[in-house]
Amino acid sequence: MIPINKPWIGEEEEREVTSVLEETALTSAARDGGKRVRDFESLMKSYLKIRHVVSVNSGTAALYAALLAAGIKQGDEVLLPSFTFVATANAVVAAGGKPMFVDIKKDDYTMDVSDLKAKITKKSRIVIPVHLYGHPSDIHEIRELAEKHSLDVIEDACQSLGSSYKKKQTGTFGTLGCFSMYASKVLTAGEGGAIATDSNELADKLKMIRNHGMVEGNDTRMLGLNLRLPELSAAIAKVQMQKLDKMLEIRRRNAELLSKRLLASSKKYEVKIPEETADKKFNWYLYTVAFQDERDSIKNHLVQNNVGATVYYSPPVHKMPFYAHAASETKLPATEWCAGHVLSLPVHPHVTEADVDRIANSLKSTIEKQNVS
Ligand SMILES: *Cc1c(COP(=O)(O)O)cnc(C)c1O
Repeated sequence: MIPINKPWIGEEEEREVTSVLEETALTSAARDGGKRVRDFESLMKSYLKIRHVVSVNSGTAALYAALLAAGIKQGDEVLLPSFTFVATANAVVAAGGKPMFVDIKKDDYTMDVSDLKAKITKKSRIVIPVHLYGHPSDIHEIRELAEKHSLDVIEDACQSLGSSYKKKQTGTFGTLGCFSMYASKVLTAGEGGAIATDSNELADKLKMIRNHGMVEGNDTRMLGLNLRLPELSAAIAKVQMQKLDKMLEIRRRNAELLSKRLLASSKKYEVKIPEETADKKFNWYLYTVAFQDERDSIKNHLVQNNVGATVYYSPPVHKMPFYAHAASETKLPATEWCAGHVLSLPVHPHVTEADVDRIANSLKSTIEKQNVS
């Protein structure tokens, strides 16, 4: 089976993890964290070209900490897409906010600015664009609208490390940008997360929030929890940071090759393939296509052929039991269409050129079979 994603881990990570174990410095509750935490943050900071990176122990924790740092209050409305991993919405609820779901655009699956505009109310406080699949959202327009209505922008860049808009990294446009280092993401620590910001004040707050609201210890000044990244995970993340360009390069090669193979037949089979624009560069976290018909049976055939094709995301968040009740009036036509028609294919760094041919051929033969039956 070619899995949809798989961590690219080697001897360098093993060596760094072993050195943490040998030093028995497994974690640090110091304000600035342990040595690997500081090393990792400094590497990510240079990569993103931003003033501060504060690491935490998951992407969910990054979103939660960012919402607290932004000063969210009970009942504040937070605008976010429903077409995302549920963590985006869960973090809002955990922080006391009220999720307000915004529709997406069918062409790139990111937030629809005109629907965002329609859903802003007097209670709106924060907007969370999600750079889904590594596709940059229309971040300039979103930021402009947010400024007009005094909303903070918290980017959910959990899937988009390495993606850019007009050569600027996603996660660096908002007040705060959140990243995940979960095992499936382009850069992993097993579990982990990070928040990027240019604000000294917010970085200070984030360091308190990840550490029970403390500054020097036993002096809690605001609500915080234990959201610290352990040194073992930071050690992996640090080495992964050094390999990021290489990993993204292989993803790009695979994605471009796959597009070339699929394009030849895309009209005939009505497959919509993902396309970059002059301004928006993808990290190719997920190579996602959309079919007019038969998505589920195509997916099943691919899986039977050992291609780990996966649907992200169905159902969308507003149709999940926990959210459906409050969102029963919510109509998100593009979100609902996409949930029924998209399919992601593997392009991660373990995928070889021969694998890409196999994926493209399986897809073609699957669709041909569909057309005959
Ligand atoms: C992965 C992900 C998260 C959550 O990150 P975890 O590290 O799994 O907690 C949040 N939002 C999106 C869009 C994600 O893909």
